[in-house]
Amino acid sequence: MLPDQQFLRIPGPTPIPPSVERAMSRPMIGHRNPETAELLEKIKPGLRAIFGTKQDVLILAGSGTAGLEAAVTNAVKPNEEALVIVTGAFGDRFHKICQAHEIKAHRLDIDWGEAASPDQVKTYLEKHPQIKAVFMTYCETSTGVLNPIAHIAEVVKQYSDALTIVDGVSCVGAVETKMDEWGIDLFITGSQKALMLPPGLTFLVASDRAWKVMSENERPRFYFDLQTYRDKLAQNSTPYTPALSLLFGLEQVLNLMNEEGLDEVYKRHLLMKNMTRHAFKALDLPLLTSDKDASPTVTAVKPVDFSADDLRQIAKKEFGMSLAGGQQHLKGKIFRVGHMGYSSPADVLQYISIIELALTKVGKSIELGKGVQAAQEVYLKQ
Ligand SMILES: *Cc1c(COP(=O)(O)O)cnc(C)c1O
Repeated sequence: MLPDQQFLRIPGPTPIPPSVERAMSRPMIGHRNPETAELLEKIKPGLRAIFGTKQDVLILAGSGTAGLEAAVTNAVKPNEEALVIVTGAFGDRFHKICQAHEIKAHRLDIDWGEAASPDQVKTYLEKHPQIKAVFMTYCETSTGVLNPIAHIAEVVKQYSDALTIVDGVSCVGAVETKMDEWGIDLFITGSQKALMLPPGLTFLVASDRAWKVMSENERPRFYFDLQTYRDKLAQNSTPYTPALSLLFGLEQVLNLMNEEGLDEVYKRHLLMKNMTRHAFKALDLPLLTSDKDASPTVTAVKPVDFSADDLRQIAKKEFGMSLAGGQQHLKGKIFRVGHMGYSSPADVLQYISIIELALTKVGKSIELGKGVQAAQEVYLKQ
């Protein structure tokens, strides 16, 4: 095996485009120099478009979880009540963060592999009118579900005064996102998934309503005080030293997305999802999610007649291809393929073909090429 050839087919970190790698290797600049202000100014419109908002998108150094924690500590006071919709491991993380910050966090647990429904949320809010914030996950990476956040946000607005707070880490930039139109109050993402960058940045954007609530929240905070980032960003600056190399990369990522066109980016992800799902169905592999709930960015398979972890090991050892396993109670029971960011139908044809070989090696009897053919047919019919 070629030692440094890696096929990263996990739902984050994802591969980096070569032009983005080159941009990140630019020499360092001073963070108070005019070049940094120009860079921040250039980045702003692209980020707004990705979230579908008029608001400025804040950029903080930290992984996605830092963004989730910042959302929790800025928007909710100790002892206030919140509802966390848990459709998998990342909903569960939001709940843990709320608990760590002494929030009375209710859980609405949905079976893993299914999406939350607006009706379930409505019923919960009617019984608990004191809830001040509703936390949810857009794409639940641990299962490959895309939650119907626009409809849930509508219900939250209709049946409560709560803020709608969404973790969009594994899909913002790959899936249509209209924060303002959908009435989302706080939206968070990270750099290492659909945004084609290394880990290290988190992005947060807040509605006017959320800014009002946050300004009245006296909970102590310093590095994660979002108001300081907002004030500085208004002057094309940051309160502390930004992760400049990642910002150089981000500028190029936004150029690439602009060149392709956001609608085309979203279509490409839908196509990859459809190719992948048809291929797995043709290979008789049970999918964890329904067609209706499936995310365009990650697909989970729940095998019944072979070990998901054995398959992953063969793919890694023989082809240098990383697939993701299951989290929590799905550990060892599923494998997940990431198809987001710097990823195309050509990659789908490659990973399906490698998975077919690994299936054969793991002892599942399949007809070689059947999955690839199904994916090719989806491609031709689009
Ligand atoms: C990856 C991910 C996160 C953030 O994880 P970090 O490891 O902190 O970057 C949060 N939410 C979802 C849905 C994710 O997929």
